[in-house]
Amino acid sequence: MEQYELSSALAGSKQFVQHVQRSSGVHLSECYQCGKCSAGCPVAFAMDYTPRQIIRLLQLGLKDEALRSRTIWLCAHCQTCYTRCPREVELPRLMETLQGEARKAGKLPEKNLNLFNELFLKSVEKNGRVHEMGLMILFNLQSGQPLKDAALAPKLFFDGKIHPSPHKIKDGGAVKRIFEKVRAHGGEV
Ligand code: SF4
Ligand code: SF4
Repeated sequence: MEQYELSSALAGSKQFVQHVQRSSGVHLSECYQCGKCSAGCPVAFAMDYTPRQIIRLLQLGLKDEALRSRTIWLCAHCQTCYTRCPREVELPRLMETLQGEARKAGKLPEKNLNLFNELFLKSVEKNGRVHEMGLMILFNLQSGQPLKDAALAPKLFFDGKIHPSPHKIKDGGAVKRIFEKVRAHGGEV
């Protein structure tokens, strides 16, 4: 029985890894673990697994460890790792794919992460850039914590960091068109 469970778990992990490779276009076997990506990653210091280690987890079929990792949410998609990689492993795309899979599996590091992402993107689509104050208020109200960080608001306001009304950009229509294109290609925004 135990042996059956183990082989079925291994088969599940193998399928998952194949699915991630197809979705991201990244071939995990291309990575030979040199670590150049991690050495250049600007947020590696805050990650629980370095970018190189995330690939190693997947190469070993350790699906849950990769999906539970904070690393995939901390990735800033800056492309530094990709430009440094001698094997052209597109790590930012892999991180993005893993984020999607973690979301589907309900393995979010913070329960309101989806809400924050959704409100952030709505604000960018509507105003051409994020309206911090509006985002903060909506997020607090909708996440049921109306006074979260409220003590910081006066200082941010008087320092000119937040404004009651959004700053619209010149060609807000261009940003809306980007959102429409992403949706037309099946993207979730
Ligand atoms: S730089 Fe490329 S080959 Fe080297 S560990 Fe990172 S992903 Fe793998
Ligand atoms: S794209 Fe992500 S993993 Fe790669 S260097 Fe930037 S932050 Fe690090």
